[in-house]
Amino acid sequence: MLSVTRTQPLFRQVAADTLQARKNFGIGVRKLSWPSTRHRQRLVILGSGWGGYGLLRGVDRSRWDVVVISPNTYFNFTPLLAGCAVGTLEFRCAIEPVRRYSPEITYYQAWCDEIDFKQKTLKCMPATQPVAKSTTGIESQVETSAQFSIPYDKLVIAVGAYSQTFDVPGVKEHAHFLKDARDARRIRSRILECFEQANQPFLSDIERRNLLNFCIVGGGPTGVEFSAELHDLLHTDIQRHYPRSLARLAKITLYDVAPNILGTFDQSLRKYTEKTLAREGLRILTSHHVEKVEAGKMWVKEQGEVPFGMLVWSTGLAPNPLIKSIRGVEKHPQTSSLITDDHLNVIMEDGTPNPDVWTIGDAGTIKESPLPATAQVANQKAKYLVKKLNKLSKDQEHTVPFEFHNQGSLAYIGNWKAIYDRPNPDGTEEGFMTKETGRVAWLLWRSAYFTMTLSWRNKILVPAYWFLNWIFGRDLTRF
Ligand code: FAD
Repeated sequence: MLSVTRTQPLFRQVAADTLQARKNFGIGVRKLSWPSTRHRQRLVILGSGWGGYGLLRGVDRSRWDVVVISPNTYFNFTPLLAGCAVGTLEFRCAIEPVRRYSPEITYYQAWCDEIDFKQKTLKCMPATQPVAKSTTGIESQVETSAQFSIPYDKLVIAVGAYSQTFDVPGVKEHAHFLKDARDARRIRSRILECFEQANQPFLSDIERRNLLNFCIVGGGPTGVEFSAELHDLLHTDIQRHYPRSLARLAKITLYDVAPNILGTFDQSLRKYTEKTLAREGLRILTSHHVEKVEAGKMWVKEQGEVPFGMLVWSTGLAPNPLIKSIRGVEKHPQTSSLITDDHLNVIMEDGTPNPDVWTIGDAGTIKESPLPATAQVANQKAKYLVKKLNKLSKDQEHTVPFEFHNQGSLAYIGNWKAIYDRPNPDGTEEGFMTKETGRVAWLLWRSAYFTMTLSWRNKILVPAYWFLNWIFGRDLTRF
């Protein structure tokens, strides 16, 4: 059974409890009504990630009555999160606010919990703290945290996926995940806390070593990039500003159950990365199985008990609970993502595509040609849907199926080096810029993500922070 890590925030639980109280008191789900003065069709977008936000930016907002529902008031530029987690960039550089587009669009900070394809309605739960409107106690909370329902004409499901834990006990409680700018903030705070704790004068060297043991589980691109960024932090700013004796005790270990890290990259690039990371003093333990995690320690089948100061868990994707809960549609047998046709329409149980519902990003898979769950795919699908919906709003047809153009994969591997892999469509090895390593790939990495940065504000902030931190070092302040 799959398990997910994004534990429901406390306020969501409170909202669920108050909803139950509402039901007990016989109070139904609140239906929101909209003025019928607007004759545009309502397009509801679920999620504000690579898929949802990409669509929001491009869709003709003057022709559609756009409603966005997402528990996040912002978009996460995920490739920059590892850098934010160690202070190479500030958190602001990796987010874009959804509110930039309101009041042109309607936005609710909420979770969609249920989709009724027949009635074309959604049930949603506020993702805000319940706020008491009056002084009448429980009733006021019930009132303000009520579930609400929203009708749609067209629906785009872009709710992404959660982090996979493989049901390893204790992971949810004691490991850090890296999916969101908030996670990056927690990680940064914990790294610096480990160093401040280890610096206390009354600790033994063993206690210090345990606190400064940083473990990363999952050797995919996210695990590798985070390890590399952490390595850069330890070997530059930490060495500069903490006692030498302390910095020397810090250790990074990258674990994976598979025999190799970066399984999706070409073998030569994998070998190059392993060699480079090992030379930099980063330990890679492949074919290692984490069995249990407790506060400050984990059990590895091949090693026994391993104490740590911080554990970052990045072992792939688990389905979003909303996607899991949807019935009457075709789903991928392994990933449980929604199956779509090559126009990205969700395929219903009877095998017919639903003409009013699309899914993009990590929540969906094309039946004929499954693609990797990446920002690149989500972004291209969003752009495709923009074209389709903009034509549809003018009563024009868009009959071209979605086609993915692989621009290659990049991963930062530390010390101003990266790898770049772009397989030839015909499967051959030869060609211009199909594989790059080292500084050239690093330049590609930085220019690619600078180019992809969405707003002018971040196009200025991202290079500015890269430059400032190169000159003055990272900010080691812990809030
Ligand atoms: P997401 O971007 O995850 O967005 C999902 C949205 O849905 C969020 O706004 C969420 O709050 C919202 N949501 C969730 N549940 C609900 C609900 N019930 N109702 C309403 N809204 C909901 N890919 C690359 O191609 N290159 C990279 O370099 C790269 N680096 C990465 C680095 C990190 C640290 C991570 C975590 C991922 C990285 N990826 C990268 C993968 C990439 O980020 C994902 O594939 C991409 O985010 C998928 O986009 P999405 O829109 O499907 O989901």
